[in-house]
Amino acid sequence: MNYKAPRGTRDIFGETVLGLNLLEQKAKEIFIRHGFDEVRTPIFEEAALFTRSIGQTTNIVEKEMYIFEDKKKRKLALRPEGTVSLARAFIEHRMDVSRSACKFFYSGEMFRYERPQAGRYRQFRQIGAEIYASSSPATDAEIIILAQEVLSSLGIDKISIHINSLGCEKCRPFFREALVKYFSSVKDLCEDCLRRLEKNPLRLLDCKIDSCKFTDDVPEMSDYLCCDCKDNFYIVQLLLKKANCNFTVNGRLVRGLDYYTRTVFEVRSSTVGSQDALAAGGRYDNLIKEIGGQNTPAVGFAIGAERALLAAQNVGFFENLKIPEKIFVAIADQELFSEAFTFAVKITKYGINGNKDISVFGPINGKSLTNQLKFAAKIQASKTIVFAKTEFENDKVLIKNMKDKTQSEIDLNKL
Ligand code: AMP
Repeated sequence: MNYKAPRGTRDIFGETVLGLNLLEQKAKEIFIRHGFDEVRTPIFEEAALFTRSIGQTTNIVEKEMYIFEDKKKRKLALRPEGTVSLARAFIEHRMDVSRSACKFFYSGEMFRYERPQAGRYRQFRQIGAEIYASSSPATDAEIIILAQEVLSSLGIDKISIHINSLGCEKCRPFFREALVKYFSSVKDLCEDCLRRLEKNPLRLLDCKIDSCKFTDDVPEMSDYLCCDCKDNFYIVQLLLKKANCNFTVNGRLVRGLDYYTRTVFEVRSSTVGSQDALAAGGRYDNLIKEIGGQNTPAVGFAIGAERALLAAQNVGFFENLKIPEKIFVAIADQELFSEAFTFAVKITKYGINGNKDISVFGPINGKSLTNQLKFAAKIQASKTIVFAKTEFENDKVLIKNMKDKTQSEIDLNKL
């Protein structure tokens, strides 16, 4: 076969699927406990929605979106992230007007045409949460603490939380100006940075190319924050400290999306390699208005499920996985097929001795017992229950332990 999964995508099996499911389940439980409701938005949206809100000069919009035309020539895009789709839904369902329910979470696949490497895929999962209609810095702190709580529930405690304030429309222009001045004197800026210098100089802080690297005297937003933004950022920090949430103020933290205002943050782990951001988010007070809604402040974050799983795996998360016991039902005599079949249906429904954490295979018609046992070994069954004539006449079956190859008889009514 000449077909392969597209570059940057993966087929996910076994423990990884169970791990991702458990991770999402734990995150959902925490979100629900904190008063969030789940929302599912489409996997694709009008491309213009993302272009407008994430920002024309961001990597996501310039290089990473999967854009296609449908049969009616509508320009659509696979969602590169969840915040914008949720904001669109929030407005479309008039929640910006009624402001009824204000906390939502989502989980699902995102798509970015990035250069694949460990922890960076073109199709990946994010689990995110958003709080609408509160401009209180307490909500920023709540979101950061929530991100920490979710990661901690997965056993990921060795993290560093980086926070910064990107200011508001009043103070950010001064910072932009200072950045333009600074970077105008840097030689050998890459082509992207040269272009962005005029339109979006904040992006230059995010460039990974060596020749664009800045020195310690690069301007930092904290020196340009207006009084309101300064107070706001101070309260966020105060509340985080009171909640014993350790953080580092990182004056160079900018995010890859333009809609952020004031608080931004990133949760990093040194255990997962170069793609060390496990979660990220921040405040975006202008986004909802920008895409046509009523002025509604908002703050949110997203956890990268694959990266979080990688970090969780390093601290023994997989040991907590409940892997159902595989049971194979075999027949030594073909005429016992219907009895074995009925038995398999029964234990699938009711479990064995009340244990429903099992996964039942068989019986298979028309195969020798040797071949059935080979199949049982192949699917890594831990036990094979064999229906054989002599034993069945006495209401018994044989149980083969597939690991140590021992065999015993047991009364059918005891199963
Ligand atoms: P962002 O939407 O860029 O703020 O990213 C939020 C989180 O999603 C990051 O901290 C990562 O954990 C995860 N993430 C972003 N891009 C990728 C990717 N290409 N592959 C895997 N995870 C990603």
